[in-house]
Amino acid sequence: TQTFLNRIKQYDTLNAYITVTEDLALQTAQAADLKLATGEANLLTGIPIAQKDIFCTQGVKTSCGSKMLDNFLAPYNATVIEKFNTAGAVMLGKLNMDEFAMGSSNENSYYGAVKNPWDLNAVPGGSSGGSAAAVAAGLAVCATGTDTGGSIRQPASHCGITGLKPTYGRVSRYGMIAYASSLDQGGPMTRSAEDAAIVLQAMAGFDPKDSTSVDCAVPDYLAGLNTSLQGLSIGLPKEFFGEGLAPDVAAVIEAAIKEYQKLGAIIKEISIPNLNLAIPAYYVIASAECSANLSRFDGVRFGYRCKDPVDLTDLYVRSRGEAFGKEVKRRILMGTYALSAGYYDAYYLKAQKVRRLIAEDFKRALQEVDVIMGPVAPSVAFGIGEKINNPIEMYLSDIYTIAINLAGLPAMSVPAGFAQHKPVGLHIIGNYFAEQRLLNIAHQYQ
Ligand code: GLN
Repeated sequence: TQTFLNRIKQYDTLNAYITVTEDLALQTAQAADLKLATGEANLLTGIPIAQKDIFCTQGVKTSCGSKMLDNFLAPYNATVIEKFNTAGAVMLGKLNMDEFAMGSSNENSYYGAVKNPWDLNAVPGGSSGGSAAAVAAGLAVCATGTDTGGSIRQPASHCGITGLKPTYGRVSRYGMIAYASSLDQGGPMTRSAEDAAIVLQAMAGFDPKDSTSVDCAVPDYLAGLNTSLQGLSIGLPKEFFGEGLAPDVAAVIEAAIKEYQKLGAIIKEISIPNLNLAIPAYYVIASAECSANLSRFDGVRFGYRCKDPVDLTDLYVRSRGEAFGKEVKRRILMGTYALSAGYYDAYYLKAQKVRRLIAEDFKRALQEVDVIMGPVAPSVAFGIGEKINNPIEMYLSDIYTIAINLAGLPAMSVPAGFAQHKPVGLHIIGNYFAEQRLLNIAHQYQ
C-alpha cells in the first residue's frame, strides 16, 4: 500500500485520481496484515485497489466527475464497495472519469482530462479513463469501472489493460450512480485475465437492493482459466471489419485471431445486420434514461446549490446550469426531447424496437458460434483535444462496444498488441453469463 501511495505521489501527473484516501488505506492495510497473520486472508486481502468515482463510498467524496457532486460525501457504501471491504481489499482512492460517465475520452471530467500513460498527449479513453490509466501506470493493482456503452472496454483497449463488462445484472448497481440504468454495469479493470477473474469474483452476485440484479449462482472464475480452446468457434462479424476501422488496428486484431487458430479455434464469418443502428438507438435510450436519472440533482437535498436563489425555479435552474458540464446538458436536453409527449413513439419507442433487433442479431449469431471477436475501438487512442468539439465523431468511437450493452451481453477487452506504439485491445463477446468462458479465452492468449 505504501509503495502504491508513493507511486501515486510521484506519477499522478496523469490526473488519474480525484481523491487519494491515504489514511484510510494505511489503516485498512494494517487490518489486512492482521488477517494475513491469523490466516483469515483471501486473495484480495491487503490488495491496493482503486474505485471509479461513480461508486458511493461512505464518508468519502463521491464526485462522479462532476462539479454537482464536488462537495458530496456519500452517506453509504455501494454494494460493490461493501464486497471489497468484506474481502479486506485496501482502497487507495477514487478515480477520475467523464462527468456522470458520459464520454469516451475522459475530457468531460470537472477535474480535467486524464493522460494516457503510453502517450501523454493522447486520451486514455473513457469514461473509466482514470481507472485504465491508474492500472496501466501501476498506480493501483486493479480498479473498478462501469460500462454503459463501452466505458470499461474502450479505455482498457487504449491503455493496454484487461477490462471486463459483465452480463447486465451480474454485478449490483446499488450505490453506483446511475447514468442509463438499463445499460449500466460495473466490472473489473486489471492487468491480466487472472486478476479480472479474482476481482469479478468479489464483485459479482445477487443483491436484493438492486431489482435488476440476477439471482443465479456465481461460478468459480479462476477454475476455468486453463480449459483448452480446441474446437472453440469464433465468429467474426463482417460489420466489425468494414469501413471506419483503421488498417493498423485491423492488422493487430487479425494477428490475434490467428493465434487463436493456433490454439485450436475455428473461425467463421457471421453478420450482425443491424449493427449500424446501434449508435443512434443508444444515444436516444441513454439520453432518455439520463435525463430521468439526473433529475434528482436539484440543488435541494445534496450536491451543488447556487448562491442566493430568489425562488424555487431560480434554485433549480441556476444550480443545474452552473454545476452540469456541457456534454451532460446536451444529453439531458436530447433525452428530455425524446421523452416528450408526442415524440415518445417516434424516438424512444422506436429506439427500444431497434434495441430488440440488435439483441436478436446477437442471439442468432451466438447460436452459430461460441464467442464473437473483433476490435474494441476503430483506432488507437486519439489526441487530447482532437475530438472534443465534434460530438458525432466522439460518439462513433464506441461503434463496436455500444451494441453489446444494448443486448446486455458480457464482453472483454484484452491487450492484443500495438499500432503506432499505442495499445490495441481485442474484443471478445460471449453469451449471457459466459464470463467464465471469456476469462478462459483471454487467459489462454496471455
Ligand atoms: N461513450 C459512451 C457515452 O458517452 C459510453 C460511456 C459509458 O459506457 N459510460 O455514453
